[in-house]
Amino acid sequence: MPNQQLPQQVTVRKLVESGAHLSGFVSDVRLPRVTEAVQQIAQGITADLHFGMDESNKMIIGVSIEGAVALACQRCLESVTVPLNIATTLTVVAHDEEARNCIRSHEPIVLDEGLLHIDGMLEEEILLSLPAVALHPKVARDKQIDDVSQLTDKTSSADQQGIERRAAVGLNNPFAVLKTLTTEDGQE
Ligand SMILES: [Zn+2]
Repeated sequence: MPNQQLPQQVTVRKLVESGAHLSGFVSDVRLPRVTEAVQQIAQGITADLHFGMDESNKMIIGVSIEGAVALACQRCLESVTVPLNIATTLTVVAHDEEARNCIRSHEPIVLDEGLLHIDGMLEEEILLSLPAVALHPKVARDKQIDDVSQLTDKTSSADQQGIERRAAVGLNNPFAVLKTLTTEDGQE
């Protein structure tokens, strides 16, 4: 875990020109919209920001965010820890109009007089990444698989019994009778 805190705002053009790389932690109090949306930040948020240009000379910011948050499990209402592993690329655009036309692979970001407000950007990315429904996956999924395999066993043995029954009936089926009649006709 980096032992220095990320700045709250930076002048993007300067960092792009020097190809800067910022890395650091962000204390919980800087992310009030996240702390409001989760039970708690379970593992401190750290972020890496890489500044550069893309092939069409647009300023881009590579963002990766790590940490973990605790959410209420929607099955048992106990706390479930959700790891955050976010990686995205932001393309700096001049205004909202350009942001709407931005290609989908690069998220647009509009700067405030050349400044990137890091806390607000991190909040957006973290909130976007949170699952709509948090669940304890492992224990619950194992139980479901058990239920399903029991069902499958019952179904397949029922199918087998059905096949055996049809086979037994086949000995006395109408076609067998028809075959006998045909043979008898041929003999007449
Ligand atoms: Zn649960």
